[in-house]
Amino acid sequence: MNSEIELMVFTDLDGSLIDHNTYEWAPARQALTSLDNISAGVVLSSSKTAAEIGRLRAELGLEKWPAIVENGAGILPPFVADVATQSAYQDLLVTLAQVPPGLRRHFRGFADITTTELADITGLSPAAAARAQNRCFSEPGQWLGTDAQQAEFVTLLTSWGIQVQQGGRFLTLSFGGNKADQMRSIIKAYHPKHTIALGDAPNDVQMLEAAEFGVVVANPHRLPLPPLKGEPEGHVLRTQAAGPEGWNAAVLYLLNRLELQ
Ligand SMILES: [Mg+2]
Repeated sequence: MNSEIELMVFTDLDGSLIDHNTYEWAPARQALTSLDNISAGVVLSSSKTAAEIGRLRAELGLEKWPAIVENGAGILPPFVADVATQSAYQDLLVTLAQVPPGLRRHFRGFADITTTELADITGLSPAAAARAQNRCFSEPGQWLGTDAQQAEFVTLLTSWGIQVQQGGRFLTLSFGGNKADQMRSIIKAYHPKHTIALGDAPNDVQMLEAAEFGVVVANPHRLPLPPLKGEPEGHVLRTQAAGPEGWNAAVLYLLNRLELQ
């Protein structure tokens, strides 16, 4: 496709490029400008929906790059505002309805709650919460039961062919595909010389380990990720600052280290 891409950056949103609480990305502006100056690809990779990511991608001026949506369950192509199919999502809800009620009641999915409730849980505006509920590929939700019940729930769904991933604040169910799978297919299409991936949660780990440089963005709201593959060799770095501030520092550091500035 485009053979002269020096660098592609794959980044998680919540708790990484955007602040866990305020959803601000302004502290990362300097690094984003530096990436733009060298025409680096920036691929947003999040549990968010195409409807949510499409807006943010436009706000960031990154429409010419694909985005990884719903935790890797789908792709939002460049210059497209949203994707149309909901059939995978409907199939997922039908399968979820087969879970025994004693277990099912501990999972509070986005389809189980009103837009107002979702806005309360996430701090999103009602309009933004509605976009988060406009799903095509996957179902996130809160786990309200014990860890043992969660393990039982995950085992059952896995046996039915559903993949369960732990994100920054939700468990996400899908029929497969993760951020790293989608990252690999995008790298295959664009073949950049260098790759950087940034994230803060267990659902980012494979992506961080698959990139040339992985960056664990500090998130004081959760337990730190365990040591990752490649970390002793310096292929995985950790930021001091949390969220977009840490993101900014790590990208500027790596641009310098790769002599791309
Ligand atoms: Mg995150």
